[in-house]
Amino acid sequence: MKKSAIILCALFLIFVSCRKEPTPGPDPNGGGSFAKVKDTPRVWDGNKRADITYQLLVYSFADKDGDGWGDLQGLTDKLEYIDQLGVTAIWLSPVHPAMSYHGYDVTDYSKLNPVYGTMDDFRTFVRAAHQKGIKVYLDYVINHTGREHWWFKQAIISVDNPYRDYYIFSDDPGADIAAGKIPMIKTEGASGYDSGQWFTISTTGSKPLKFKLDWNNPFQPKLTVTETAGTDPENPDVSTENAKYLYFGDGVLKKFYDKGGNQYELSTDFTSSWGFLIRTSTTQWNNKTKYGAQSQSGARITYGTPFVLYTHDNADNVHDLLLPGVTMFHSHFWTNWFADLNYGDVKTAENSPAFKAIVENAQIWIDAGIDGFRLDAVKHIYHNEFSDENPEFLKKFYEAVNDYYRQSKDHDIYMVGEVFSGYEQVAPYYKGLPALFEFSFWHRLKWALEEQTGCYFTKDILTFQNTYKPYRVDYIRATKLTNHDESRARTELGNSLARTKLAAAVLLTSAGSPYVYYGEEMGYIGSKSNDDLYVRSPLYWGDGYTTNYTDKVDPALFNVVGTVKTQEVDSMSVLQLYRKFARVRNTYPAMAYGVMTEHSLYNDKASSTYPQIAAWYRTWGSEKLLVLHNFGQNQVTFSIEDKIRNAVVSNGNIYVQEEKNYTRVKMDAYSSVVFDIK
Ligand code: MG
Repeated sequence: MKKSAIILCALFLIFVSCRKEPTPGPDPNGGGSFAKVKDTPRVWDGNKRADITYQLLVYSFADKDGDGWGDLQGLTDKLEYIDQLGVTAIWLSPVHPAMSYHGYDVTDYSKLNPVYGTMDDFRTFVRAAHQKGIKVYLDYVINHTGREHWWFKQAIISVDNPYRDYYIFSDDPGADIAAGKIPMIKTEGASGYDSGQWFTISTTGSKPLKFKLDWNNPFQPKLTVTETAGTDPENPDVSTENAKYLYFGDGVLKKFYDKGGNQYELSTDFTSSWGFLIRTSTTQWNNKTKYGAQSQSGARITYGTPFVLYTHDNADNVHDLLLPGVTMFHSHFWTNWFADLNYGDVKTAENSPAFKAIVENAQIWIDAGIDGFRLDAVKHIYHNEFSDENPEFLKKFYEAVNDYYRQSKDHDIYMVGEVFSGYEQVAPYYKGLPALFEFSFWHRLKWALEEQTGCYFTKDILTFQNTYKPYRVDYIRATKLTNHDESRARTELGNSLARTKLAAAVLLTSAGSPYVYYGEEMGYIGSKSNDDLYVRSPLYWGDGYTTNYTDKVDPALFNVVGTVKTQEVDSMSVLQLYRKFARVRNTYPAMAYGVMTEHSLYNDKASSTYPQIAAWYRTWGSEKLLVLHNFGQNQVTFSIEDKIRNAVVSNGNIYVQEEKNYTRVKMDAYSSVVFDIK
């Protein structure tokens, strides 16, 4: 059978498994008439029990001082808006001084980025948040620092600098990994070695060097580098025929002096973080004009010894040339903007200087009043994301930080980790941390919305839960739609407002601890495909607080989505939906933390002629809620035997008709309803 036929067959079987059984329950097309459901939720007692966290980017959120960037005073002024979403915690994007706008390349963990305000502003914000029952979580980047971090600047001064051990340096990474000399890459070994994750760095600074080229054999030209006392003036020769260039540093291109007889020379001040290449063109940046080393990395020039240069014709690829005094550092994310921290062997990680420093810096923020951390990129700390090393490391980090936190608190600190993977790969990380993001939640929900198939959703959630259980009994599933690294949910759902609202209703009625990424509560639009900034856009308040540091904003945000002000007065807006569902989640313990179970008729097994229906119960004590969502694009009518007390929340038109032993339910396309049942 052809592969495509197998796939079609498999899809058909999935389809059939939702449809093959006869209509469950009584005939939905019996007599009588339908009445439109009206929501009559219980009055909220004021206790925030829903465990909803609001993720916001400080720079994009609210600008008070008018410099175009969001700041802490603006954020403090907008706490009431956040409070109305019923949230109990805020996750702030990194607040430390950093190299980039996004803050994930920190240059000092002990300080606050001055663009955001002062430490007094920070403490004022935390106090104001606490007064509203809102905790504050800091984004904490423990995998790497920015290359401009003062630790790194110290580390590269000399091999015996005390900060040297904070990072991973090697003159020959391939050999050192194979020999087991780099503990953080030991279990992955040299087979996982990626030369693209190593970057050269000069530890010698700027120095004058003389470069001599012998071009008599154009297929194997030779280069000799020597130390020299002085440098040549700029080469005034503008002819480009047979010209040779030295390319190094931050895009520096210097032309050689043509000495005749295929000999070329240049003496220049040399400094480069990545090495250098010889080029024969200023404009054609292809391999035919590029000359360098043949080997993958670590191809090193010795002063005074001729080195044969390779081009694309006689090397698979052409690589940078390194000078004596140049070493390499490791950076997982394929950019020399970051430098990975070195915690050594995980068995003794807590003794490493980097571990002690990162924990001590966390204490500064605990002293400033924060309640927890969101840990970035935790599966990349040790270079074997499938080994136990990262969970083991995270456990040590959690315990070290929590020990300090518990000195002034009667409860454990909150910590949520980012493992950007499917739930099976996430699960073992619960050995290290109490909370982890569940990216599978959004992926499965998106699939279900695209396929108009709700019948598997409850089973998916129960599968996730059962997978986590062996690793931690009190696991916290940080459920979410999208975040700052993903295209906006509405964009991913084909800009459909109806499906965006349904996604929100599912998030806020499902088991888990939901995260809401700022702007999502307004149905924000934005694609990551052009630039990350399109999914990190300013929040349009409709007042003077809107940030304007970037023009990379989808015009639809203002023209289609509108402002907080316009959505606040529109009863059909996404914002009103979030507020309504969040309030119900805060009102009903069953909705907040009740057990989630499958509906007996509408589920993945056997069920149904209604694959579009997602149905589940949320139960806490004697309180039992029935949650129904119509993932389909058409109205649907079906029957349930549950005894409805009342509807507590809905989105879209829902109609019911009570019969003697059952109830007929009619749901509009993409609608949702939660019934309190007896
Ligand atoms: Mg500002």
